[in-house]
Amino acid sequence: KINAGKMTYSMTEFDFGQMLEESVESVQYISPDHELVLQEKVEVNYTGDRFRIEQVLNNFLSNAVKYSPGGGKVLINSRLQQGNVMVSVQDFGIGIASNDLQRLFERYYRVDNSALRFEGLGLGLFISSEILKRHQGSFWLESRLGEGSTFYFRLPLSKTRSSKPIIQKPLYYKDDHITIAYH
Ligand code: ATP
Ligand code: MG
Repeated sequence: KINAGKMTYSMTEFDFGQMLEESVESVQYISPDHELVLQEKVEVNYTGDRFRIEQVLNNFLSNAVKYSPGGGKVLINSRLQQGNVMVSVQDFGIGIASNDLQRLFERYYRVDNSALRFEGLGLGLFISSEILKRHQGSFWLESRLGEGSTFYFRLPLSKTRSSKPIIQKPLYYKDDHITIAYH
């Protein structure tokens, strides 16, 4: 029996725009062939697990880079909308066929583009979706094969959530299913 680990969450208040800027800078640093452009930086303090939200951003940003193998622009936007922080990451890469869109956030799911030889486990979006769900967030995407993709996520500000903060909710990954344990 394999227990691939657990995720624990610790909530703190942080400057969301600053965290976004730092995530963009670090992916830019390792992706010299791409131009990452933070077009709008939201100004808001957000309460959540900073490390995990960074992980979501890094997954979205590194996918945008990885699936635009010819280089090019990656456009990042963030704004406040009705008590939510909204983030989008747009690339002009290989895109995704409409019949693959539904399954992208499944664990281990990868589009069969083996001819293109992209390395990966198919875990990035699955983990991201779990983290976003834990923050009462939502996510969606738009894509067109051969033209590019835009991934979005939305996180409610703490005010709109339960007043009792969630301190730690470990999440256990087992063979092929997830067990959520409340402590
Ligand atoms: P890793 O576990 O290293 O992240 P991965 O990138 O293959 O591996 P996910 O990030 O979960 O896994 O993405 C799942 C699949 O979705 C990818 O294999 C790819 O086919 C598709 N995909 C994700 N982001 C993009 C994108 N920006 N453009 C095109 N396809 C994408
Ligand atoms: Mg990935």
